Amino acid sequence: MLASKMLLKTLKDTPQEAKIPSHILLLRAGMIKNEVSGVFNYLPLGLRVLRKIENIVREEMDNSGASEILCSAIQPKELWEESGRWSKYGPELIRFSDRHEREFCLGPTHEEIFTSIVRDLVKSSKNLPLNIYQIQTKYRDEVRPRFGLMRSREFIMKDAYSFDKDEEGLNVSYQNMYDTYTRIFNRFNLKFKAVLADTGSIGGNASHQFMALSDVGESDIVYCDDCGYAADVEKAWSKANIYGDKSEGKLEKVLTPNKRSIEEISEFLKVDPRETVKTIIYYDNYNKEYIAVLVRGDRDVNEIKVINALNTTENDLRLATEDEIKELGSVHGFCGPIGLNIKLLVDEEVTLVKNIIVGANELNYHYLNACYGRDFKGEVGFFRKAVAGDLCPICGKPLKQERGIEVGQIFKLQTKYSKPMNCTYTNEQNEQVPMVMGCYGIGITRTLASIIEQFHDEAGIIWPLNVAPYHAVVVPINYKDEEQQKLAHNIYEELKKNGVEVILDDRDAKPGFKFKDWELIGIPYMIICGRNSSNGIVEFKERKNVMNKEEIKASEAINIISNSVKEL
Ligand code: ATP
Ligand code: MG
Repeated sequence: MLASKMLLKTLKDTPQEAKIPSHILLLRAGMIKNEVSGVFNYLPLGLRVLRKIENIVREEMDNSGASEILCSAIQPKELWEESGRWSKYGPELIRFSDRHEREFCLGPTHEEIFTSIVRDLVKSSKNLPLNIYQIQTKYRDEVRPRFGLMRSREFIMKDAYSFDKDEEGLNVSYQNMYDTYTRIFNRFNLKFKAVLADTGSIGGNASHQFMALSDVGESDIVYCDDCGYAADVEKAWSKANIYGDKSEGKLEKVLTPNKRSIEEISEFLKVDPRETVKTIIYYDNYNKEYIAVLVRGDRDVNEIKVINALNTTENDLRLATEDEIKELGSVHGFCGPIGLNIKLLVDEEVTLVKNIIVGANELNYHYLNACYGRDFKGEVGFFRKAVAGDLCPICGKPLKQERGIEVGQIFKLQTKYSKPMNCTYTNEQNEQVPMVMGCYGIGITRTLASIIEQFHDEAGIIWPLNVAPYHAVVVPINYKDEEQQKLAHNIYEELKKNGVEVILDDRDAKPGFKFKDWELIGIPYMIICGRNSSNGIVEFKERKNVMNKEEIKASEAINIISNSVKEL
């Protein structure tokens, strides 16, 4: 490709809206462009990377025994009513109607469509197990689209769905996808962890997320180096950490003027925050009830565990307002479980010790020596967020914590969709049995951004060779110089013959400007034709060691590049 013919415009400055390296670099390198928040157009260099990522995923999916199809983004409401999700899926679902007032949505995921296809086409157990997938555009009207391709409203996903006769079959299909995902993310050279995950609005009873490790990740992962336990904090468990008294004292109401926060209360009463308890009141719009969740003063509520315990949805749970708290007979900042007549969800750590400090539901008052069982009761469970330093629920060693980007997730759906949607096969007894399903997603565009997060430096992107938009670039210092131009063209032709994807920078520009462009874009190899061109000597640079330049024979540079491309 000749640089002069490319649609290429790099930016010197960081666009204001971009906050993280991948977003900044994708815009600066001229790989993507957008007009609307969370919706992106892929320019030539960005599209080449995207296609390579898709092809690696495709290759591994095909090798796993799955077959590719392609569905429309448009899905009819009726199918979503069959699965029960039309009313449960919140404002993230983009809904619209046609001229005949028939309602549709733009698919945020495709469980309903794949289930419908298989129920119509597959009747016999002879065709099971089956795994079908697509690489296709998804739509989610995210509350806060941000970080470029990380969280967009339109994005590309690889989604696969497996159909088995029974649970045993599903376990095999699930493990097959787990192994395939491990191979895929290894091929991208990503540092990642597969962690236990919550199943969210997709449903089902087991799930793993594949997390690319990165400080810009939106997920917190806790893990144990000793036994290998790893989970998203939303899903993570930890052993209860017991702090406090073992014998019961007398319940006592004390004046705590204007002391609302845990810090204020602990300081005022001269106690450790672990002796206090937070009482947080929520309203659950799905079950139409108020709930109080109790966790120790130093802990945070794990809302996902609360949502699961209440069998409600993320969109239906919200904090109660100060007015609502008043109507419940309490006071914001002084809430406590004693005398509060709503459902209580009590974290186990609160129940394992005596004499805790709780709000008295009265302005400026708290109780000392409250004891679970004697002074209040509720549904006991795990409602806190696990954090680094907690003890591993499996082996008891201290857990560590890191941030990750969710690049993929796999779920055991079981019969969550096949049952209500009647996706069945005929068994040997001639009965109709629901197929047992799994679903498996990879965020293709989010993976692209994650690779940049892990592979960049001050100068720009450092693409791994197998996803780089081009493998190499040939840069004559002065294109108008005949010797340089001739050598550059020879090298360019030779590399092309060897199957190397190469750019010839034939632009009439200063050499420094050209070098900066290719370093920003992240082309793995650069061959510079300068004053030694008449002797067939070039300067050779690898993007990963941007400071190192080597003077070598053109033929040697061609060999190095051609051989590494052959090995891909
Ligand atoms: P998140 O929790 O980050 O919103 P999710 O769990 O809702 O993601 P899934 O339904 O598991 O996402 O979708 C499969 C994959 O699609 C995710 O693992 C992620 O890589 C990608 N993905 C999901 N939402 C987005 C988005 N808004 N922009 C880009 N990629 C996304
Ligand atoms: Mg997910």
